Amino acid sequence: MPEKTLWDSCLHFFKDNLPPQQFNSWIKPLGFELKGSQITLTAPNSFTLKLIQDRFLPEIAKRAEAFLSGPPCFELRIGKKVSAPTAKKSPATIADTILPIVQPMPKLQKNQNKLNPLLSFDNFVIGKANQLAHSAAIQVAEAPGTTYNPLFIYGGVGLGKTHLLQAIGNHIKHENTQAKICYVHATNYISDVVRAFQTKKFDEFKQFYNSLDLLLIDDIQFIADKPGTQQEFFYTLNSLIDGHKQVVITCDTFPKEISGMTPRLTSRFSWGLTVAIEPPGLEMRVAILLQKAVLSNNPISEDVAFFIAKHVRSNIRELEGALKRVDAYSRFHKRTISVELAKEALKDLLASQNKQVSIENIQKTVADFYRIKVIDLLSKKRTRVIARPRQIAMCLARELTQLSLPEIGAAFGDRDHTTVMYACKTIESLRNMDSTLNADFNLLNQTLRN
Ligand code: ADP
Ligand code: MG
Repeated sequence: MPEKTLWDSCLHFFKDNLPPQQFNSWIKPLGFELKGSQITLTAPNSFTLKLIQDRFLPEIAKRAEAFLSGPPCFELRIGKKVSAPTAKKSPATIADTILPIVQPMPKLQKNQNKLNPLLSFDNFVIGKANQLAHSAAIQVAEAPGTTYNPLFIYGGVGLGKTHLLQAIGNHIKHENTQAKICYVHATNYISDVVRAFQTKKFDEFKQFYNSLDLLLIDDIQFIADKPGTQQEFFYTLNSLIDGHKQVVITCDTFPKEISGMTPRLTSRFSWGLTVAIEPPGLEMRVAILLQKAVLSNNPISEDVAFFIAKHVRSNIRELEGALKRVDAYSRFHKRTISVELAKEALKDLLASQNKQVSIENIQKTVADFYRIKVIDLLSKKRTRVIARPRQIAMCLARELTQLSLPEIGAAFGDRDHTTVMYACKTIESLRNMDSTLNADFNLLNQTLRN
């Protein structure tokens, strides 16, 4: 039966050659049908379809040609997987068992939960920097309330925390249309608490949050220094977790490092699983650009992707911004995207990079790198986690800017120039003894120069 063997051989090939998450998200959901020399591939959505077309179709075509002893004819469709002749019936997922799928709702729920359907697992690029966070998110989405609770995702700005949080919500919503899901940014949660206080509607507030099946709370660092909100959140968190309802939290730092947060809350954050999202490396930045370009229907070559990725290193949001500029420039001038065109479109950005590195940039980069706040870097705090990065930042400022020692001292919370001198000496000697610190320093230095 050629249909079975052909698709089997494709499945085997992709299974062996792709990371499991990619195989599961892109290849596994495909429907495959063979009629004569006509092959119909059915993908669940346009994104997967495009991806299959661009990345996987050549391989499928190669195999099909060998099987059919002639060129196949392809039809790519969006729709439900109609036939999967070789796929074994998969056992019910845990999500099915704990969140039974109820009757489809007659009409779509109002978008009260503020989920953004565009932020899904499908269009989340996985790389070394985020694979742990991604796989934890997948596990939580597939079996909410039973694995890691809470799931705590932390990392710098623009690295995909909100995207993952939303993807979990969208996945669970898709599995169970009646699951009560709430995505809330911590600042809105604070407003809710305040409003409940003002209008004396605490019961309603409690009832709402305690009745959720899934609470996704974004940027929890914003409730630092807000003891009233923290207390309410502590109760909500306990109540949901005790009831085996899933809670996912994002934050810009590691729980224990959030200043102004009550220890009983930070320790509760760590009860489930805490995972970091790191800044993406070059390869991953390239992969993200290639994917985003396909999504915006203006694909780019790897050369162009490498060019942009080499120049935009800070985070994924900025990478997207740069790509949008290139995309807009190419559409406006009706020219296809090339490295030359990217260079023109990003002229300002590239020029600004050749300028002096600013001290603010150094402070921000060092703070992001060590996942601390710039404010802490400039504060009087002397704990090692703050003081060492501060010394590194001072030393980098000495190397990368034209500022004098007193000027650098002033920029670091009005410190004396002798402090800066001491910092530079300390870091210099530490770099000879501590290879990790030395590597960190080199990386920061290189990042800032580029
Ligand atoms: P954060 O919440 O960490 O500041 P976001 O989740 O808002 O970051 O991500 C910033 C932008 O980058 C969003 O447009 C998001 O869709 C995109 N993005 C982040 N990570 C990825 C990824 N791994 N794959 C694809 N897009 C990503
Ligand atoms: Mg965010």
